[in-house]
Amino acid sequence: MRHVAIVGSGPAGYYTAEALQKADDIAIDVIDRLPVPYGLIRTGVAPDHQSIKAVSRRYEGVALTDNVRFVGHVSVGTDVSIDELTSLYDAVVLATGAPHDRPLDIPGASLPGVIGSAAFVGWYNGHPDFAKLDPSLDAPGVVVVGNGNVALDVARILAKTPEEFAGSDIVSHARAALSDSAVREIHILGRRGPHQIAMTPKELGELGHLERASPRVDPADLPDEGDDAMLEPGMRKSVTHLRSFAANPVAKPVTIEFDFFAMPVRIEGDGRVERVIVERTTLDADLRSHGTGETYAIDAGLVISCIGYQTPPIPGVPYEHGRGRFASDEGRVLPGLYAVGWARRGPSGTIGTNKPDGARIAEMVLEDIGRGAGKAGRAGLDALLANRDIVPVTFRDWRKIEAAEIAAALDGNPREKFTSVEAMLAAIGR
Ligand code: NAP
Repeated sequence: MRHVAIVGSGPAGYYTAEALQKADDIAIDVIDRLPVPYGLIRTGVAPDHQSIKAVSRRYEGVALTDNVRFVGHVSVGTDVSIDELTSLYDAVVLATGAPHDRPLDIPGASLPGVIGSAAFVGWYNGHPDFAKLDPSLDAPGVVVVGNGNVALDVARILAKTPEEFAGSDIVSHARAALSDSAVREIHILGRRGPHQIAMTPKELGELGHLERASPRVDPADLPDEGDDAMLEPGMRKSVTHLRSFAANPVAKPVTIEFDFFAMPVRIEGDGRVERVIVERTTLDADLRSHGTGETYAIDAGLVISCIGYQTPPIPGVPYEHGRGRFASDEGRVLPGLYAVGWARRGPSGTIGTNKPDGARIAEMVLEDIGRGAGKAGRAGLDALLANRDIVPVTFRDWRKIEAAEIAAALDGNPREKFTSVEAMLAAIGR
């Protein structure tokens, strides 16, 4: 028997398990520090994007196969070390994603009211680490920094009416806070221009169909229309949306203003954020942004930086600090240790990008471990955890938690998530 441990039960973890599970004589343990599976699908993908979240059914199919086991509420690094795992399993695959924000490194970034997207997204998605975030929604202005899809998610969630969350699984605390929100002007800051955005057309197009909010683009920021021809088709569609927002400014109570060529340089306020000082930029021949010295201020009670994520390092595991990911040779980190998904390549691509990534790592693992080295595998992990009085949450337990969340759903929503580890465990009688 070959034994593989996958650390992290998000898309990269389950796609890797799915590919490995097809091999003979293999037992796969998917370990997660939370009592609930699916990582980014549960706590990263926006609650109003249920069709994307539906991929969890596929992971459930994998989790229910005989040779795959979910080991929840076990923290690698605290409850069990990487060294212990590599001595118990033929291969250990790090699928830990990139749950930490890249820091917004400007003066004033530590003022209360400045948060990262991991925290804000975690808050509206009921991640136990961020359920108590309580973001300030009491001022009309909000600044969202970054021109990627996360910035779009954040702006859209801030702009929606309570009714527009029908059918979503936004958690009640976020829905209630957002329905009392004073937010009226959302600025999305891009340090470069419309041709350099990292926003996909479907996500950008959604901003044009919001009930009480309308997107605004300054026509002066748009390049000549003829220049769109050199863009790849997806980008061209995204830019077409921006052109249509610029051409048809619709009067609605909430505005989502795209500030292009706009780099935040300082955040100011007396004890909390009150305004962001923004410097206008220009691009050089390599399309890098440079400040022009011209600045303006945006009044804001909340700043959310959506400038990318990083993987938390693990002591003893090679790490690329500049890239915020594990250092690996195409996924091989150390003998017996691999990385996959965002932990390997950094936070890029869609959920689906993790499928070929998982398949490639699975192939590599199978090639490297041969018939296995007769390691203790899951029986060894069980003994080690029992010795430490740690009782993992099983997939069967998770299904009880899930049933309780479905039973608690309000107004036809798919579920009302538990937002603390204690509440998750209470649902299984612990
Ligand atoms: P992203 O796509 O890498 O975008 C990050 C943005 O932050 C870029 O516009 C970048 O600008 C900007 N930025 C970086 N450092 C900055 C700084 N110091 N100051 C100002 N701006 C800065 O990251 P993301 O939005 O976090 O998304 C992560 C991944 O998840 C992406 O692959 C995304 O497509 C995916 N995602 C997909 C969906 C969906 O499909 N619905 C939803 C959410 C996320 P520069 O280009 O100038 O560096």
